[in-house]
Amino acid sequence: MNRILAALTATALCLPLGLGVAPAHAQPSGLTGERTAAEPLAGRVVVIDPGHQLGNHNYPRKINRLVPAGGFRKPCNSTGTETRGGFPEATFAWRVSRVLAGRLRAQGAHVVLTRTSNRQDRWGPCVDERGRKGNRIGADLKISIHGDGADVRGAHGFHVIAPTDRKKWTHDIYPASRRLAKIERSALRAAGVPVANYAAGGDGLDYRGDLGTLNLSDVPTVMVELGNMRNVRDAHRMTSRKGRAAYARALASGVISFLG
Ligand code: ZN
Repeated sequence: MNRILAALTATALCLPLGLGVAPAHAQPSGLTGERTAAEPLAGRVVVIDPGHQLGNHNYPRKINRLVPAGGFRKPCNSTGTETRGGFPEATFAWRVSRVLAGRLRAQGAHVVLTRTSNRQDRWGPCVDERGRKGNRIGADLKISIHGDGADVRGAHGFHVIAPTDRKKWTHDIYPASRRLAKIERSALRAAGVPVANYAAGGDGLDYRGDLGTLNLSDVPTVMVELGNMRNVRDAHRMTSRKGRAAYARALASGVISFLG
């Protein structure tokens, strides 16, 4: 699938979200923040954005409200996609995020999630909130987790999206974000996850200026589309505990490489 089609698909099915009121966070002191071989992420702050809330489809008015997205406005959020068997992207992203958070915390990181539940009676948070989530807490990076929904025969695999260079928005973070994107691509490849054969020229990387989740971040950020949920083979990986653990393990190793 070409880039335009990929973008349209993402827009229709898998719009990025955002969340945002930063909780008070005390930076770890030198004492507790000391990095060791056992805790290489001690003192580091990582924001994980687990895609769309499960209940978004129940709140169309709230979800369609326009919010700032980096020099323009966009709907607050979208419903996300699902497998052909009905497994929601929201639940996939939530479960991968929880495993990833656990792995990073075990390495000493302070981890903040943009949503703390996966429920039918909740919605959002909006893309502006998600985009800014790492800013006030001085996060070291923010990673947004999604599954794609490309209804194109044979389209499968993962891709990593980094922000384009946009003056006054992403100019300060786009180089580091690209570095993070390349590191995460390598980590997912090393884990045996196939690179997308339909997005961004097939090299597993895409650069976009239309995503509030990326545009509003003041810290290095990427969005990962870990697979195409409409593809049977990808769906098999994404709906299995083992598959999700493999995604989380790869993403965690990427975070450690980036921050190391
Ligand atoms: Zn999505």
